[in-house]
Amino acid sequence: MMYKIDKKGFYGEFGGAFIPEMLYPNIRELQSEYLQIIGSDDFREEYYSLLRNYAGRPSPLYYAARLSEHYKTRIFLKREDLNHTGAHKINNTIGQILIARRMGKTRVVAETGAGQHGVAAATVCALAGLKCVVYMGKLDVERQAPNVQRMRMLGAEVIPVMSGNMTLKDATNEAIRDWISNPADTYYMIGSVVGPHPYPDLVTKLQSVISEEIKIQLQEQTGRKNPDSIIACVGGGSNAAGSFYHFLDEKEVKLIAVEAAGKGTETGESAATIAIGSPGIIHGSRTILMQNDDGQITEPYSVSAGLDYPGIGPLFAWLNEKGRVIFENATDKEALDAAFLLMRLEGIIPALESAHALAALGKMTFTENDIVVVIISGRGDKDMEAFVRYAEQNNL
Ligand SMILES: *Cc1c(COP(=O)(O)O)cnc(C)c1O
Repeated sequence: MMYKIDKKGFYGEFGGAFIPEMLYPNIRELQSEYLQIIGSDDFREEYYSLLRNYAGRPSPLYYAARLSEHYKTRIFLKREDLNHTGAHKINNTIGQILIARRMGKTRVVAETGAGQHGVAAATVCALAGLKCVVYMGKLDVERQAPNVQRMRMLGAEVIPVMSGNMTLKDATNEAIRDWISNPADTYYMIGSVVGPHPYPDLVTKLQSVISEEIKIQLQEQTGRKNPDSIIACVGGGSNAAGSFYHFLDEKEVKLIAVEAAGKGTETGESAATIAIGSPGIIHGSRTILMQNDDGQITEPYSVSAGLDYPGIGPLFAWLNEKGRVIFENATDKEALDAAFLLMRLEGIIPALESAHALAALGKMTFTENDIVVVIISGRGDKDMEAFVRYAEQNNL
């Protein structure tokens, strides 16, 4: 496979582990153990058993007849919204909690922005009986109260972070500081294909169950293993990485990643990293990020909290450079319109993040016989407030 990491954790010039020296022991420990752990029979057995019996996998691949008719092509939806906790994030946290246990850790730290990863982390910590500490910017704690409550119900300790802008970046710094102070008993659970090596590769592999299932399900339903196109939204890139993984070497499959354009890529209020970013280092990894001329990271914006991230996983910086993935973007309004279309044509309320992937259907051309798989990364319960407001403003 030409898109995998080299020995030092680089995808071409992107990736690696750019970390403070004090973090070396923790990262080295994980680097030296993760491949052996996730490749072992004992891990695979427990991981797949929990995916099936706890998370509800395989998630359905659903032929959306009315949406297909609307766009004049054949559309299949990969229903990650039907997983336990409502999104793809549980695939990753189930895998990482099993790794933490095999490394003898008794305590997990995580950072969270919107709270979706925090909830998925708190869930698997309860499942495994490990202590869970979630760092969350104070501003996010206030904005995302229901998710804070869910984490606390599940037994996690949520620590509001008051430094910096009091959002995700600051929460990440605090989680890493905690990890440095508690290297012996603590596992750092990251939420996407970002961060220092080995996290991008680790999380990609744990999420690759999505593309593994698509191959089997598509074969059963259409007699073909490969679709013509796969469309997924990207924030950090974990649902897209998992959905593309087993198709990366199948050149005839178009891979389309959709970023959040917010109010528009030219407005200064967006999160479309590939569209407007440049190379630099964020969260211990060399990748593309949104920064000003002085190299200061600029605040991202999107109506969808899960895509509101100023970087992108290093795999995607590389796939972009190699031209293997087509990058599209969708504005808040385009995503909201696509969400309502799905609600009214298929009876499915998607997460706002996933609605960005759906919006790309209206921006690209497909033929009548094309098979297009769209990843519904999560469900829209958490976004009801934004949907209600949009419906009222637009008489929907
Ligand atoms: C967190 C989240 C995303 C964005 O994360 P990726 O790592 O880019 O997949 C997308 N959709 C949903 C539903 C999420 O919760």
